[in-house]
Amino acid sequence: MISLEEYFNLVSKERGEELSAEDEEILGTAFSLAEQFHAGQKRSNGDPYFEGHCVPVSLHVASLHMGSEMIAAALLHDTLEDTALTYQELQAKCGETIAELVDGVSKLSKVKFKGNERHVESLRKFFVAVAKDVRVVVLKLCDRWHNLETLQYLSPEKQTRIARESILIHAQLASRLNMGKLANILKDLAFPYAYPDEYQKTIGITAPARKKADKEIVKIHKKLDEIAVATLGYQADIDERIKGIYSSFQKLERKNWNINEIYDLVALRVIVKNVDDCYRILGAIHSQFRSMPGRMKDYISIPKPNGYKSLHTVIIDESGLNAEIQIRTIQMHTENEYGAAAHFLYKTSTNDTYTKHSFDWISQINELSKDLVSPEEYIHELQIDFFNTRIFAITPSGDVIDLPVGATILDFAYSIHSEIGDHAHMAIVNGLPRQLSSLVESESVIEIITAKNSKPRPDWLKIVVTANARNRIRKALESQTVD
Ligand code: MN
Repeated sequence: MISLEEYFNLVSKERGEELSAEDEEILGTAFSLAEQFHAGQKRSNGDPYFEGHCVPVSLHVASLHMGSEMIAAALLHDTLEDTALTYQELQAKCGETIAELVDGVSKLSKVKFKGNERHVESLRKFFVAVAKDVRVVVLKLCDRWHNLETLQYLSPEKQTRIARESILIHAQLASRLNMGKLANILKDLAFPYAYPDEYQKTIGITAPARKKADKEIVKIHKKLDEIAVATLGYQADIDERIKGIYSSFQKLERKNWNINEIYDLVALRVIVKNVDDCYRILGAIHSQFRSMPGRMKDYISIPKPNGYKSLHTVIIDESGLNAEIQIRTIQMHTENEYGAAAHFLYKTSTNDTYTKHSFDWISQINELSKDLVSPEEYIHELQIDFFNTRIFAITPSGDVIDLPVGATILDFAYSIHSEIGDHAHMAIVNGLPRQLSSLVESESVIEIITAKNSKPRPDWLKIVVTANARNRIRKALESQTVD
C-alpha cells in the first residue's frame, strides 16, 4: 500500500518541483477518494487498480509539469466510468474543474478506432471535440501511455487494436499539441504490437548504429559544449536525442531501407543567443568535426515553407557516426516548436529570461489557468476549428464522419458513400426515425436506411450543404434526364 507521503514524494520527483500546501490538499483529497472507490478492483494482470494504474497515470501527468488539478484528475480518471462515484459527489469533494476533467476523460473512452483508416482524420478531430478541453486530451494520452506500458497482459487482438489506435490517433494528437516527446514515447511503445514484423526489421537494421550512438552522443555533446564556450564565450543550451524506433521505421520506408541514407538517427540541437552566433558556431563546428558534404542547410536565410528556421549540418565523429546538428536562436526554437502558440507566449510573458522549460506550452496553459485572466481564451483559440465549424456523427459500425455545421442527414449519407447517398430513404438517429433533411447533431449515431427505388430528386439540392453531396446529386439528375 502506498502512503500519501510516499505519493507526494513521487509526484514532486516526477514534476521536478516541490508541492505547495495547496497542491497537497488537492492531491490528498483526490488520493483518498480514488483509493476508496477503486478498493478491491484489480487490473487484468492482477495488480490493484488504484496503485497499479491510477497512480502511475498521475505520475505521467506530473512528469509533463502539469498542476495539481490535472494530477488529481488523473488519479480519479476512471472513477466515473468504473466505480460507484457520481459526478455530483466528485464535484462536491474535488470541485468543478476536476469533475469536468474526469467527466471528459470518461466520454473519450467511448471513442474507439474500429480499423477504418479512411476516417482516421475525422476520428482525431472528433476526439478533441468530445474532449472539449485540451487538458482532457492530455489526460487521455497519459492514460494511454500507461496502458501501452502494460499491454502485454491483454489478448493479442486487443493489443493490435489498441497499439494501432495509439499510433494513428493518440500519437498524432500528441504531436499536434507539440508534445513531440510524448508522441515518440507512445509510438515506440505501440510499434512492437501494432506492426511486429516491421518492428523487428527496424530493430535489426538500426541496432548497430543505435549501440554506437548511445556511446558517442555524450562525447559529441561534450565537444559541442567546449566549442560553444571557446567560440561564443558562453554555455549554449544543447539538447540531444536518438531517433525513436517508429520514426526510424518511417524514415527507412522512405529511404528504401537504406540505413546509410538516414543522417539524423542522432541529432543535437544547439541554442544560442542571436543569429550571428548561429553562423559563428557553425563555422567552429565545421573546423572541429568532419562534415558531410552537401548536408548543410541554411533555413535561416531561406526558411521552410512552414516558417521553420534553423541551420542544419551533418557531422561525422571520429567513430564514423553521423550526427545532425541543428543550430538556432531561442526565438527560432520557440517558434519552430510551438508555432502560433509562441507568439502568445511572447506577448503575455513579462519575463525575458526564458528557459527551455518555460516554453513547454502545456505547462504554460497550466500556469495561465492559475494566474492569468483568460486561459479559456487561449484554449479556445487552439480549438476554434474543432468546435465552431465542424460536427461529428458516427456510423453504426463506429466510423466518425466529419461534417460542417448545418449539414443534414443526406450530407451524412453522401459522406459515407455516394451510392448510399443516391439511394438514401430515411435514417435512424440514436434509435429514432428521422428524415433526410434533418440537421445532423454532433456525436449522434446515424444509420442510413436505403431503398432500391429511392433516387436523387431536384429538391435534394436544397437540403444538402456539402459540395460533395451537391455535385453528386447534380450528376445523378443530369444522367436521369438523359435516360
Ligand atoms: Mn485508465
